[in-house]
Amino acid sequence: MSVRPVVITGDPVLHRPAAKVTEFDDSLRELIADMHETMDAAHGVGLAAPQIGVGLRIFTFVFDNDDDAPNRGEIINPVLTVGKISEQRPDPDEEAEGCLSVPGYSFPLKRAEWVRIAGFDPHGQPIAWEATGWFARVMQHEYDHLDGKLYVDRLDEKWSRKARKALKGEGWREAGNTWTPGIDEDPFGH
Ligand SMILES: [Zn+2]
Repeated sequence: MSVRPVVITGDPVLHRPAAKVTEFDDSLRELIADMHETMDAAHGVGLAAPQIGVGLRIFTFVFDNDDDAPNRGEIINPVLTVGKISEQRPDPDEEAEGCLSVPGYSFPLKRAEWVRIAGFDPHGQPIAWEATGWFARVMQHEYDHLDGKLYVDRLDEKWSRKARKALKGEGWREAGNTWTPGIDEDPFGH
């Protein structure tokens, strides 16, 4: 197992849809082990394969939840059903989201309070659960990565303007920017 560098926004792998997994083999399970190790080293609550430069529909998560789901797990080729999203403005304190691929930043965003997710485990067996609250947010955030979408792409006008300015200031506009958890300084100060 090894910690992989985390790809930063601007790299095409983060901005295009990922491909379905077709082989449920040992190399898939090794990839998932590396994703868990990278997620933990980065103090993340979720990690999608494109974030380590692998364009496959897989994400891992670690999140204590009251839903009927494991606190740590992974899902492959997921299908997401999303509840209604409030049209109210997001609360900057309670609804600020972050992403390991937009290191050091967070911006508020409304998400659905409920989702259902269905997909496959690393052995190709079907799995599914419902998620609520912040766990539902994690599911939506990680699922978005598989469609080439980052949370900063979903911000309202006010916050989108701030995010664009921040990303421009960082120079994150092209391929190849990464940071390595456990080696580079933790961008979220963990
Ligand atoms: Zn993310």
